[in-house]
Amino acid sequence: MNVSNASKYLEDHGINATYQRAIIYSYLYKKKNHPTADIIFNDLKKKVPTLSKATVYNTMEYFHKNNIVQVLTFEDGVRHYDADTKTHIHFNCKQCGMIYDFHTNIDFNNINGIDGFDIDKRFINFEGICKNCKMEKTK
Ligand SMILES: [Zn+2]
Ligand SMILES: [Zn+2]
Repeated sequence: MNVSNASKYLEDHGINATYQRAIIYSYLYKKKNHPTADIIFNDLKKKVPTLSKATVYNTMEYFHKNNIVQVLTFEDGVRHYDADTKTHIHFNCKQCGMIYDFHTNIDFNNINGIDGFDIDKRFINFEGICKNCKMEKTK
C-alpha cells in the first residue's frame, strides 16, 4: 500500500489523513513484521525528518483506538503493532524476538466460549524457537 492509498484508507475509516499518518500506516502495512513504535520511528526518521517519536507513539495508539491496527504484547512487555486486524496466530521467537504470522483454516469466530461472555478481541500466541534460530544452533 503506497502513501496515497494509505491516505485514502485512513479517510475511509474516518481518520484525518495527515501526511505523517499516511506514511506510518503505509510503512506498517508493507512491513508486516509487527514493529514497536521505536522501530517505526527509527526506520522512518530518515525519510521523514520532521517526524518525532511522540508522533509515532500517538499515531499508533490513535490507529489502535480506531481499530485499524492491533496491539500485540509478548514477554518483552513492549507494544507491537499489526496492520492486519483479522484474528491470526502469532509466533514469538524466544531467541531473536521476531514475531511471525501463522496461518490456519481455523474459524476463530466459531469457537464457542462460555455463555454470557462477550468476546471483543481474540489473541492466539505461540512461543518457541524459530526456524532461523534453530539453524544457527545446529551450525
Ligand atoms: Zn528466532
Ligand atoms: Zn500479525
